[in-house]
Amino acid sequence: MDAFRDFCNKSKIPFINLSNPVSLQQLDPDKEFSVAVAYINRQNPDGVAFLRAVMHWQNVIQRVIITDSVDLDLFREAINKAHVNYILSYPLDSTQAKEVLIKAHRRFRTLSRPLRKLDKFAEITQDLLIDNERIRDAARRDALTGLLNRRAFDDYLTSLWLRLKKDSQTLSIALIDLDHFKRVNDTYGHQVGDEVLKKVGRILLENQRIGIDNAFRYGGEEFAILSIHTNKLNMQAYMQRLLETVQNTVVETGQYQISFTFSSGIAEIQQANSVQHLVQLVDRALYQAKQNGRNQICLA
Ligand code: GH3
Ligand code: MG
Ligand code: MG
Repeated sequence: MDAFRDFCNKSKIPFINLSNPVSLQQLDPDKEFSVAVAYINRQNPDGVAFLRAVMHWQNVIQRVIITDSVDLDLFREAINKAHVNYILSYPLDSTQAKEVLIKAHRRFRTLSRPLRKLDKFAEITQDLLIDNERIRDAARRDALTGLLNRRAFDDYLTSLWLRLKKDSQTLSIALIDLDHFKRVNDTYGHQVGDEVLKKVGRILLENQRIGIDNAFRYGGEEFAILSIHTNKLNMQAYMQRLLETVQNTVVETGQYQISFTFSSGIAEIQQANSVQHLVQLVDRALYQAKQNGRNQICLA
């Protein structure tokens, strides 16, 4: 297989070596394979079962055996059981091997032509699915800030709760509430208030760690962040960075330059015995941060 891999690499033919030959589940079903190759001889008869599984999986994939034996019974078995299309002898003659691969690949193309039409259909269906996804996504996003909305928060937290509790993985939640935001509206007008909310949305999005953090607009001037694999103390450090970023941010609109701050509460999944309990804990921590004078973070 190593020799064969080198040969494929040199000829720029994509190549996958399956560790367990009979388990096709390892393969990405979206990838297209044109040729399956197995090395077989009397001591290694598993290749026949592998090629047979390939045939049942997608019978247009061309099946090739490489063998160093001239055992007619073995050939017969390979042909009867796995409908093998080509037999190559080992050691490989690279010119001959290449020819066989190209021939097998062409044959696959010809045989799978009707399937290709189906693929086109599948592509269209896929586009529709993506459109549906987009619509669903629109229902889950807040129009003003572009962040995920409260509904998405509820869904996501519930599904994370079930998944992470089961595997005893950690998750932290932070609630962020802008300080004296009513004053911003009252002093500069609602539209300026909206600009501040947009800016906060942008800061949260820019600071998200892909695959770890998800930021949400939780309500009016309240935001939430869910961070998987993150304990309370790491979440606190993360919030501290955001707090400083916001302290150093100025929103400029026409004649005004507006500075603002937020308060934040943090809780960790291990502290709670239900999703509602977790939200209650983080809400209380936020209340505490407000009580302590705002522009700060409190842990549950
Ligand atoms: P605190 O520090 O205690 O949180 O004070 P606060 O003024 O931020 O809190 P309060 O709950 O009294 O006021 C929240 C304000 O947020 C009132 C509401 O008009 C404003 N708000 C909520 N949603 C929006 C929005 O979409 N746009 C704008 N411009 N303002 C909003
Ligand atoms: Mg509020
Ligand atoms: Mg507020």
